[in-house]
Amino acid sequence: MSAQDPHVHLDVAIIGGGIAGLWLINRLQQAGYHCGLFEAKALGSDQSVASQGMIHGGIKYTLGGALTGASEAIADMPDHWRQCLNGEGDVDLRGADTLCDHFYMWSSASVTSKLTTFFASKATRGRVDKVAANDRPALFRQGKFKGQLYRLVDMVLDVPSVLRTLANNVAGQTWLLPPERANWIKNESGECELRVKTDKGHVRVTAGQFIFSAGRGNQALLRALDENTPAMQERPLQQVMVKLKQPSDDIRFYGHCLGTDKTPRLTISTHPTQDGRWVWYLGGSLAEKGAQQTEAEVIRAAQAELTHLMPWMDLSEATWASLPVNRAEPRQKNLLRPDKAFIGKAGKCSNVAVAWPTKLTLAPNLASECMELLNAEGIKTASHKPDLSALDILEQAKVSPCPWDQADFKPFNEFVS
Ligand SMILES: Cc1cc2nc3c(=O)[nH]c(=O)nc-3n(C[C@H](O)[C@H](O)[C@H](O)COP(=O)(O)OP(=O)(O)OC[C@H]3O[C@@H](n4cnc5c(N)ncnc54)[C@H](O)[C@@H]3O)c2cc1C
Repeated sequence: MSAQDPHVHLDVAIIGGGIAGLWLINRLQQAGYHCGLFEAKALGSDQSVASQGMIHGGIKYTLGGALTGASEAIADMPDHWRQCLNGEGDVDLRGADTLCDHFYMWSSASVTSKLTTFFASKATRGRVDKVAANDRPALFRQGKFKGQLYRLVDMVLDVPSVLRTLANNVAGQTWLLPPERANWIKNESGECELRVKTDKGHVRVTAGQFIFSAGRGNQALLRALDENTPAMQERPLQQVMVKLKQPSDDIRFYGHCLGTDKTPRLTISTHPTQDGRWVWYLGGSLAEKGAQQTEAEVIRAAQAELTHLMPWMDLSEATWASLPVNRAEPRQKNLLRPDKAFIGKAGKCSNVAVAWPTKLTLAPNLASECMELLNAEGIKTASHKPDLSALDILEQAKVSPCPWDQADFKPFNEFVS
């Protein structure tokens, strides 16, 4: 490093541009902070574009019985997002698309009585409606469906459009910074600084607060600063994608199939692909168990599950692919699912905090927690706008393509041994 190296000082520097980082930079900008976001690959790369886009009030977590911490923290979130989508919230999401303004829970005939008792309980009152046979979506208007269908007042968003909207709101402040160009330095008083490598030397980036919101990348960032707390856990999944030939009106569906476990047996969301078709994106227990299986095994399990739960569905012309993907979260006892958004100080670094939203839904909650932390740390907005021109050497980061637009879909018979 030389004394001539250009220097940029930000109130807050955000590292990682998934839903967490992008929501946060929007909130901070609204509050008058001068901030910047640095992304290693493409915005939303790991989990956010691979998510099912369901913005939920936590009903599925109440399946186990009493309300849990998760359901209390999350219950306000759908309304919060709705206000933002209408341009009346703390972040302007008017450019984002809603795929569906509700989603469903359905049961196969074998667990109907459990579901009836659950939906009659206080925990779900006012948030769930039983759907009469005539009002069912096309997919469930088949005579062969013998279970029950409930509609939740939650919604499903087109996540790439959410990410694009959030990025456009802060245009010019989301830089692409491959990890090999980032040098992380911690001085003796525990203050962290980022040095961006250039052809001629470095650009020094200092900040009142660095916030690591890099999903699974948080661990490597901590390691680069010789820190290992807060600790992270990864919960692996293998999602299944089914590209269908049927017209979208016949197959578009968003919902959980409930089995006997606390986790939905199967979660289905439907997404448009760049080649003008629609893909069913399958998660839930199928994807949790799928994490231990080969691609062929999880695809065979998905085909068997769909054939069992929707025997009327013609899958003969469908093509299939899978996506191994990990959820990254703060470490919990016994690898349990965490309750709420998390932000905590990084080890002995005085100006670094680490954040995981733990759910797309909780990104607004995480941003509020971050604002509280900044207040508690006394991080104020600078009176002068920083000169960011030294960072012009970096490109602006783009939104990542969706997994279904990158996957190699194959007919089912290629997965049968
Ligand atoms: C299959 C699946 C389905 C899901 N479905 C839902 C759902 O329906 N509803 C819901 O509420 N939640 C859902 N979730 C959870 C939700 O997607 C995640 O909690 C959320 O997207 C995490 O966002 P994030 O910004 O923390 O991380 P990510 O989206 O993983 O983003 C992290 C970003 O940081 C970048 N990065 C990594 N390392 C560095 C570095 N060194 N420097 C700079 N940048 C870096 C990455 O490239 C990436 O862009 C789902 C998760 C999965 C895996």
